[in-house]
Amino acid sequence: MIFSDLPIDHRIIKNLETAQLRELTEIQKQAIGHALLNKDILAASKTGSGKTLAFVVPMVHRLLSQRALTKADPRALILAPTRELAKQVYMVVRQVIANTQLKANLIVGGENYNDQAKQLKRNPHIIVATAGRVYDHLQDRQLFLNGLELLILDEADRMLELGFSEQLGYIHKLANHRKRQTMMFSATIEQAQIKVMTNTLLRSPQIIKVDAASQPHSDIEQFFYFSDHVEQKDEQLLKLISIDARQQCIVFTATRDDTHRIADMLNEKSMHAVALNGELLQNQRNQVIQAFTNNKHAILVTTDLAARGLDIRNVALVINYDLPKFPEEYIHRIGRTGRAGAKGTALSLVGKKDWQSFEAIKANFVTEATFKTVEGIQTKFSGIKKKHVKHHAKTTKTKKGDKKTTHKPKTKRFKTMESNELGFVPVKRKKVEPPTSENEDE
Ligand code: ADP
Ligand code: MG
Repeated sequence: MIFSDLPIDHRIIKNLETAQLRELTEIQKQAIGHALLNKDILAASKTGSGKTLAFVVPMVHRLLSQRALTKADPRALILAPTRELAKQVYMVVRQVIANTQLKANLIVGGENYNDQAKQLKRNPHIIVATAGRVYDHLQDRQLFLNGLELLILDEADRMLELGFSEQLGYIHKLANHRKRQTMMFSATIEQAQIKVMTNTLLRSPQIIKVDAASQPHSDIEQFFYFSDHVEQKDEQLLKLISIDARQQCIVFTATRDDTHRIADMLNEKSMHAVALNGELLQNQRNQVIQAFTNNKHAILVTTDLAARGLDIRNVALVINYDLPKFPEEYIHRIGRTGRAGAKGTALSLVGKKDWQSFEAIKANFVTEATFKTVEGIQTKFSGIKKKHVKHHAKTTKTKKGDKKTTHKPKTKRFKTMESNELGFVPVKRKKVEPPTSENEDE
């Protein structure tokens, strides 16, 4: 099926052709039809399978073909969990609305608030945003959502994981009318919190699933390595990074400090690494992503900040220096490679501290975990026996053998984070370095 077969505005088709997009991907085939009928959608498909256009194309068509409900309010709001992803989605939107009268704005944290307020006065039709900043503008009445026709959540589960349910609930209330269409997309939608949120946000949704997240991604080769301690992880990392001159690698760590330490270590070996984490100033974050996207660095060392959604073509290798706390982030991290049909490799170092995460990942997202050893490096650690392990996530099997994950209730740390981003507490960030990366994002 090709885009020009779709009953959509010819300008969209032309813009897609300019971007050399012709054939629809599977999720696009399945989602666009329902979306064009103004149906609410909850959709899951693998990382790199083209979810962005699966919501942007029907969104733009609706805006071009139907009359606005109000004169001034935005007609579509797309939310993403990180500034970097919001920006990327915004670029896709820009591409698809080229040569139409539609205007779009990017409204994310870390950028000048007053400039954004001015932009909002010019009544953009489409807003791509992070939840925290859009919430601030709503509170300050720079923005009204009475006329909102489309609410789209990209990486919906991650926004809930980060504690944005309150903001989402608020946005929902401000735009709670029968003409609103809501769409939620992610590669992982099995978590318990998602169900609660979908019940509130979606009206008789069309549920679309292309390949279960529990099935291995056929374009990503995955291997695991036992590791005894940090020094050994460093040694293993140095040996495992093998990419050719045009390829790039992303290394994921648990802490912000480690992104710098490891990038420095790699640079000492002339490996052209750069660190990215939520502690950097926004203009530094922008510069790093821009430079990495333009292949000016071979290696990006980052936290879960870059786990979701980012589409960087040359990434052929992902290395988990530490495993993520939330098992589904594993799927998203490794999904930075093997995109749009390309092949990729994902390698994970598993030490004692990673074991609990490893078990949860294995139970939910990896059918067969293959362990390998790095040549010349001996390891003693070989896992922890089951009875000592406290599970992060409960796994239950359904009849068909699908696996479901139920998360423990949110920890206090998320509550703090939520209040911070809401602006209920002083904007200053706590001095204490957070032990993990979950609170990297907006
Ligand atoms: P996802 O959100 O599912 O992870 P993206 O929307 O980021 O995936 O798309 C991944 C890559 O696939 C992008 O580089 C995008 O340009 C490309 N892509 C999307 N749709 C198509 C298509 N129909 N044909 C070819 N490439 C596509
Ligand atoms: Mg995406």
